[in-house]
Amino acid sequence: MSLLLPALHTESSRIALRFGERALSYRQLAAAAGEMATRIGDAGRIAVWATPTLETAVAVVGALLAGIPVVPVNPRSGERELAHVVADSAPAMVLAEPDAELPEALAAVPRTDIVVTAEADATAWNLAPEPNAESPALIVYTSGTTGPPKGVVLSRRAVAVTLDALEDAWQWTGDDVVVHALPLFHVHGLILGVLGPLRRGGSLHHLGRFSTQGVADALTGGGTMLFGVPTMYHRLADALDSEPGLVEALSGARLLVSGSAPLPLDDHRRITAATGRHVIERYGMTETLMNTSVRADGEPRPGTVGVPLRDVDLRLVDDAGKRIGTGGEESAEGTDVVGEVQVRGPNLFTEYLNRPDATAGVFDGGWFRTGDMATRDADGYVRLVGRKATDLIKSGGYKIGAGEIENVLLSHPGVAEAAVTAAPDPDLGEHVVAWIVPADPASPPPAEELADFVAGQLAPHKRPRSVHFRDALPRNDMGKILKRELTGPPEPSQPAD
Ligand code: ATP
Ligand code: MG
Repeated sequence: MSLLLPALHTESSRIALRFGERALSYRQLAAAAGEMATRIGDAGRIAVWATPTLETAVAVVGALLAGIPVVPVNPRSGERELAHVVADSAPAMVLAEPDAELPEALAAVPRTDIVVTAEADATAWNLAPEPNAESPALIVYTSGTTGPPKGVVLSRRAVAVTLDALEDAWQWTGDDVVVHALPLFHVHGLILGVLGPLRRGGSLHHLGRFSTQGVADALTGGGTMLFGVPTMYHRLADALDSEPGLVEALSGARLLVSGSAPLPLDDHRRITAATGRHVIERYGMTETLMNTSVRADGEPRPGTVGVPLRDVDLRLVDDAGKRIGTGGEESAEGTDVVGEVQVRGPNLFTEYLNRPDATAGVFDGGWFRTGDMATRDADGYVRLVGRKATDLIKSGGYKIGAGEIENVLLSHPGVAEAAVTAAPDPDLGEHVVAWIVPADPASPPPAEELADFVAGQLAPHKRPRSVHFRDALPRNDMGKILKRELTGPPEPSQPAD
């Protein structure tokens, strides 16, 4: 498997994967995955019941070794979503841990247990030749934030070039030990978090389940890079004063990386103030793998997701389809004008499974329309404003990004969580609505006070017109706020003006 995981053949006794107390060296991983690959044989397409375990990692590497496209399945998806994924991807086989109980939706799919036999005889392998670079490595379903998840076909080449671009941006080496607790059915946890370390002969230390103590211990015990989503960094920020050793552990890490959703400025600030370290943000999506990142050797700039990765072309395009001030290869100008991020490069997906029309619909020539809106600083740093579908509020001729208002609300001491959406408005077209989880549910801050707080720091047209209080915000497995579920009847709420 020299294209994807050249380090697998090193016969090294270095730890490749550690999940809790269980670990495999490169030699053991190659043996276990080789054994898995021979059992998979030439099945057409396989599903992996992707629990956060050593078994999942071995099964995925085994499938890649066998050259069979793998569909990682979210073990927490509901029956309906699972039925959709199974019907759409039609796997010939599902690989699962021996003691996993598979739901009804997978009952008709032949099952093979994943047995990690670290001492298997690698000479017994009978593997097909490595498939060509354009063949599908993985079919990963999107997070379903804006609609039903789509099956994204990713080639072996797209995965390889993305991991190499991250190696360049993060100066990621075989000496790095990546620590994370991410799910293994999305790009972040599986491709960056498992295949990333393996590609260069480094190590993964997966915590199984996220805890602030687990992070502190793993970083103190040799971890060099932490991957997380904003909800995890938020919990780390909250635990800085209380979790023994956490400040030292974070201070000693070489790189703290956040992605999948915006990291609130307040969490950036708290972590940097306590540890002296900056959390760097990277931005990507299932269809394009990674687009941008703050570079390890670049200037940290909280609130931005950095610059395009090597091999990625990025442009901003306005509603009329016109390219706007770039800061990129054509001009050194920054721009405050919000445009849709479009990307082009060898990192792009091949197609949406079974959906040729949807695939055709998201391309403009060779450019993929991300649906994300951004501005760009003069030196090319990208500032995401939010998603075109849910985070852009068009009010009285202004285009307002939800994220900017959310950041202000989150800096209010009475606010634990915040989301901002648009509501139809007869005069303005749309107006700003805030959804708040109060820090103290018994005494939420007055709506009026929150609205004034926003207007005092931003322009008056960004003032929320109404504020809704909730016990929790609806989120998916990646911690992304499901804004489409925040559009229900706005009760209980308080008008803010
Ligand atoms: P679906 O496409 O099914 O609606 P999804 O877009 O959330 O779900 P993913 O492909 O997992 O599924 O997520 C990609 C999206 O996540 C991006 O388009 C972007 O909106 C968001 N995102 C990723 N990284 C960041 C980041 N650092 N800051 C802000 N948003 C981010
Ligand atoms: Mg998407």
